[in-house]
Amino acid sequence: MDIKKLVKPNIRKLRAYHAEEVPCRVKLDANESPYGFSLLKTVKTNKYPDPEAKALRKLIARGLRVKPDQVLHGNGSDELIFNLIAAFGGPVMYPVPTFSMYGIISVTLGEQKVEIPLDNEFDLNLKEILSLIKKMNPKIIFLSSPNNPTGNSFSSDRILKIIKQSRGLVVVDEAYQQFSDKKSFIPLLKEYKNLIVLRTLSKIGLAGLRIGFMVADPKIIHEVNKVRLPFNLNALSQKAAIEILDKKERLRTSIRTIVSERKKLLKEMSSLDGITPYPSDANFILFRTNNADEIFNGLLRKGVLIRNMTGAVKNCLRVTVGTPGENRAFLKALKQLL
Ligand code: PMP
Repeated sequence: MDIKKLVKPNIRKLRAYHAEEVPCRVKLDANESPYGFSLLKTVKTNKYPDPEAKALRKLIARGLRVKPDQVLHGNGSDELIFNLIAAFGGPVMYPVPTFSMYGIISVTLGEQKVEIPLDNEFDLNLKEILSLIKKMNPKIIFLSSPNNPTGNSFSSDRILKIIKQSRGLVVVDEAYQQFSDKKSFIPLLKEYKNLIVLRTLSKIGLAGLRIGFMVADPKIIHEVNKVRLPFNLNALSQKAAIEILDKKERLRTSIRTIVSERKKLLKEMSSLDGITPYPSDANFILFRTNNADEIFNGLLRKGVLIRNMTGAVKNCLRVTVGTPGENRAFLKALKQLL
């Protein structure tokens, strides 16, 4: 039997997201936090988890000053991107380069994707986006701000114009918002009923638990909740997140440390000949060099794994901010190579 012939044509063409496991000494490739929590809490493994994740959603809602019925939980925010596209369909519009899953999930679900290149400052190409909104009437627009992999936040006024102009939904993906001093779009949810803010706990030390959530008008939550699988967030993750989110000071400290390390790293990298790092509002730094593959492989030979972004952004590599020691190891290896 030819399985390839059985699978849907759009899936046939698709390549699976590849999260490569490369053995290394210093792992700075996946925008994780270097600060985690060790825990082993007892949960009832024989019972299904709370399908509605009520306690966790209540806690998250309180922290963001919204109502629990404005919050929906996902097994990572990846899953919510999937659920959003499954519920509303396409065309799905987003600027490029950006987080690859918007495109991968659109193709998986057989929905049309509309990709619009960012401008030279990696900001939104407003004119083109507004004109394509008119022409294509996208059901969903994804704006990752701060943007992965470029690191910058998009201009708030451009995002706002897109929200106002769009007759579909606009998802502001704030996966990295906590590392930025720009304002969150969550307070604007009251005013704009087509706005969705996507958040994740992955970047602040909980990537292993797979917890993401979206915040939106209850009517939107109601529709997306229909396509959510019943027990998508396991009991251990729910319980652990509730416990960890209570450690506010520790979370704040680790975010502050990452931001201050990012600033130091950017300053150091800016002083090096042969690379051009870009300013970042996130927990990673994108940098350009004319021998990206060589630098990437050279770093790896020295045990330092970063992300080769050359497929998405010409000549660019992306390094996640690690602990001070990891960042020093990265800088030392980079200097040797340059
Ligand atoms: N959005 C953006 C912009 C991201 O960079 C990522 C992770 N790389 C995600 C969403 C997904 O995060 P998670 O599924 O871990 O919540």
